Amino acid sequence: MAGNWKMNKTSEQAKFFANKLIHDLAGVNFKVILCPPFVFLSDLAEILKGTNLSLGAQNCYYERSGAFTGEISPIMLKDIGIEYVIIGHSERRHIFGETDEMVNKKIKAALDDGMKPIVCVGETKEEREKGLTFCVVESQIRQAFFGLSKDEVLKTVIAYEPVWAIGTGIVAKPYQAQQVHKFIRTLLGELYDAELCQKISILYGGSIKPDNFFGLMVQADIDGGLVGGASLDDQFVELAKIVSRML
Ligand code: PEP
Repeated sequence: MAGNWKMNKTSEQAKFFANKLIHDLAGVNFKVILCPPFVFLSDLAEILKGTNLSLGAQNCYYERSGAFTGEISPIMLKDIGIEYVIIGHSERRHIFGETDEMVNKKIKAALDDGMKPIVCVGETKEEREKGLTFCVVESQIRQAFFGLSKDEVLKTVIAYEPVWAIGTGIVAKPYQAQQVHKFIRTLLGELYDAELCQKISILYGGSIKPDNFFGLMVQADIDGGLVGGASLDDQFVELAKIVSRML
């Protein structure tokens, strides 16, 4: 389960909430990743040291260093103890113009520096209405993993996040999400092999809330959730409890 805090919280709020999660999620026996804004990562890395919670960044650049004003490289994230990085989130793609080629370069750069990418894919409302969902997702997956070995892909997590479901309160129906998750798994089986497609984690993301999470989590090919809005408060703890009860 990963929580994408997006551009939210002050430093004090971030530290307070991280401490609360350490307490409330102390017993969970599955991977929980918090993805706060860059500026809070160092402080939270200290706070979360020795706990069962991991940290992820929400983005990175694909060069190691240099004249790239405002960017953060994977090696910088690694240096402060960050394990994961979200790459290709729909807000990065649609607001900041990130292309599939950039997503591919970022994944490669992150892997080269020992980070684990959480790779986001998903179709827009218009694309779904035109029947292009599988075509769009296939193209995003193929381009994201272009040139990557099986071992490299195994270090990544995939998040299927239909753009029309992100931050809209309109969650994908469990069968709709399951269809795409199964499609992605099958595609990876074709591109790599059966072992990879069984081992890789595919998270669903898009308006997850405590009242819709269980229905998604029981689907055969949904391995967890990438949570936006509901990762900012106690709903995140409720979501974790739902997962705990299922294990
Ligand atoms: C996200 O930002 O990845 C996300 C899924 O957001 P939300 O849960 O708010 O739809």
